[in-house]
Amino acid sequence: MINNYQHTVAERLMRYVQVETQSNPFSETQPSSENQKDLSRMLVTELHELGITDAELDEHGYVYATIPSNIEQEVPVLCFCAHVDTAPDCSGTNVKPILHQKWDGSDIVLPDDSSIVISTKKHPYLSERIGDDIITASGLTLLGADDKAGVAVIMDLAEYLMKHPEVKHGKIRILFTPDEEIGRGVNAVDMNKLGADFGYTLDGGERGHLEGESFSADGVTIRIHGVSAHPGYAKGKLVNALKIAGQFMDALPKDSWSPEMTEGSEGFVHPIHISGAAEITTLQFIIRDHKTELLHVYEERLENILKDVVAQWPGARYEFTVKEQYRNMKEILDTRPEVMDIAEKAYEQAGLNPQRISIRGGTDGSRLSFMGLPCPNIFTGEMGIHSKEEYCSVQDMAKAVEVCVHISTIVAG
Ligand SMILES: [Zn+2]
Repeated sequence: MINNYQHTVAERLMRYVQVETQSNPFSETQPSSENQKDLSRMLVTELHELGITDAELDEHGYVYATIPSNIEQEVPVLCFCAHVDTAPDCSGTNVKPILHQKWDGSDIVLPDDSSIVISTKKHPYLSERIGDDIITASGLTLLGADDKAGVAVIMDLAEYLMKHPEVKHGKIRILFTPDEEIGRGVNAVDMNKLGADFGYTLDGGERGHLEGESFSADGVTIRIHGVSAHPGYAKGKLVNALKIAGQFMDALPKDSWSPEMTEGSEGFVHPIHISGAAEITTLQFIIRDHKTELLHVYEERLENILKDVVAQWPGARYEFTVKEQYRNMKEILDTRPEVMDIAEKAYEQAGLNPQRISIRGGTDGSRLSFMGLPCPNIFTGEMGIHSKEEYCSVQDMAKAVEVCVHISTIVAG
């Protein structure tokens, strides 16, 4: 169906990654960094140029746009979503994308730092992509295919559908979000304004993967209160919260229950931050499992370990606060099986063998699902994400566009 179309995904990804859009976890603003809007403004202009007249950037940093229906009958409103920000874990300043045309399978040595080598040994999926055009960064930064590959796919889809009115589809809403990488991507989405029945994020990796299951996630904040005293006159008085925190950390299991010791369907408990002084020390944990009911079990176990440690320090006490972060989208998708079924059918129509897999993390879609928009995640080809070894196959992005076209026509009936 889409054979004679000259895809724009490569050119778009190369251009979009050069706009710095790193999100900032230490900022309280919405969006967390103003420079994310630079890319969003660019996208709005390009959507206008495609004839998508309602494209707009709102005050919170969201881009909303509509590919209008070209059929008579009413069908569900679809949404395609991607995030414009890049991860704070790795520099995203002055990204210099490189296109390795018809890549031959040899090691890719990045020119600005020859110690950064992208090889099939370290990235097994790459060996399936020999002969593809591969885009990488130059060695000093991440690439930002996470998730500008998703952005490029949706923009190319918009261009294709606007230029091919013979391809029949219902109303399609486009949503570009900021701040996904710091877990705040959908905080200020106006669901009424979005007005979609279900959707798909374009933020997955390998061709053929279809992600309908995510972690369920809580955050735990622990405050350990010691007793402060002048150290010169502290005998029998001082109770040092730092030492209690150290003993507590040491009491955690060392061979299980942590990200570095788990994979597949296993959950974990992970300390992410510690700060404080003798009087009060604060520890932050993230709690993750695919089964929501296990979060509570983990939290109880964590608190029991803490309680036993603190009990050994007379005068000390603690606070233990749990905050819900997001939930496994499967709980919602199971009530709307057609959403995964449509995607699966679209993969097959695009000649792919769909593989339903679960994410060891969350996406904007996890939270959107619980906000009323069931929203699994589709592959884009973005791989080696959050690192200087990030890469993306142009042919994978083009395949993702094809999948989205099929989803659009399937929904049109
Ligand atoms: Zn992403």
